[in-house]
Parts: sequence; structure tokens; C-alpha cells
Amino acid sequence: MPISLPELNDPKALTPENVDAAIRGKTPGFYVLGVMGENKLMTVTYVGRSDDDLASKLKRHAANYPAFAFGTAETAVLVYQGECRLYHALKPSKHVMHPIRRGGAERACPVCRQ
Ligand SMILES: [Zn+2]
Repeated sequence: MPISLPELNDPKALTPENVDAAIRGKTPGFYVLGVMGENKLMTVTYVGRSDDDLASKLKRHAANYPAFAFGTAETAVLVYQGECRLYHALKPSKHVMHPIRRGGAERACPVCRQ
């Protein structure tokens, strides 16, 4: 079954200023971290999410990763599912564990049902 990737914005350098400029207020969201290559192609080494405050989570990564891209969603369930799709599609090298689900079976991973 093909994996549909959630929509991400264009990758940017991961600095607190860029995070604040890109994300207004508190929102759930998922993100990828890695290295920016040519033509704004990113090599992704980490995939994550925040269930309630994407911007502050990204800022905590700012010292460790040069670039980020993100997408937002309205609920924690959608954010988890977005993170799962990214995780399965990109197989990030620094994120060997499957994303952790909070909640019951109705929140299962859309790809592997974990
Ligand atoms: Zn999965």
C-alpha cells in the first residue's frame, strides 16, 4: 500500500527566529529535522511531533539540527498519524523507535496499526 505523505512546508534553517516566524501561537504539529541540501532538498534524520505546542518543541531541537520542515493539524490524533506516515516513509536514521501512541486502538498508526 502506498504511503501518502502529509503536507510539509518548505524546509528552513532551524533557528528560534525562523520557528517563531513560521508558527503562530500554540498548535499541534509534526516535523522533520535534518540537513538542508541543494534545491531545498532535505536529508531527514529525525521525525517528531508535538500534541500541543509545536513551536516550543522545535526550538528545543535548534542546537542539534540545522534544518526543519513542519506541518500542523487540528488534533493530537491527526498529528500522531502525520508523524507515523513520515516515520514510515522516511525511515529517519536517528529515530529508530516507532512513534509512541497516546490513547487506544482508535488512534492506531495508519500504516502499521501499531
Ligand atoms: Zn506505524
